[in-house]
Amino acid sequence: MQQVDYIPTSYRKCPPTKLLPQNDGYKTYSWFITEDEYLRLCSLFGREFQECNLGATLVNGLPTPCKSCGKHTEFIDWVWTALRRGVHTADFMFEALKDRRMPKENMHDVYCSQCGTLTMGRSRNNAEGGAPHISEAGKLHSADYPARKPQANGRDSPSSDVSEQEVC
Ligand SMILES: [Zn+2]
Repeated sequence: MQQVDYIPTSYRKCPPTKLLPQNDGYKTYSWFITEDEYLRLCSLFGREFQECNLGATLVNGLPTPCKSCGKHTEFIDWVWTALRRGVHTADFMFEALKDRRMPKENMHDVYCSQCGTLTMGRSRNNAEGGAPHISEAGKLHSADYPARKPQANGRDSPSSDVSEQEVC
């Protein structure tokens, strides 16, 4: 598997977010993908990210600035961490995102895609180890991705405009 490089950016703003109605006691926010992040996603995947039709992701909590470089947490950090830690190839993840087949249980630690610092220690029971930097984090266990849904019989989603992806 090819080495996944750090992705530099001059973008220092907090990505736009929206608090969703609470239904389970968690504060869930929609994190919108900015144009700057979109361009970085294109270069990370080496493909046109618009194909995923993904405008926002659902996250419990708000973006926070990286304590090393100041970049706020973004969706790309989830993707970058998974690719860097060798869970799946870029093409596999791209297709999974496009089909909305991301795993429900996705409590792995998230590292800053610009500098590799741990930004969100999310694993339960510290199973991930909480390594402070990506270079010390081990390989991720392959997450359980749901089986690919048949495309022929229409979508089973109640929403006609599926543009958000739950990441944690
Ligand atoms: Zn950083």
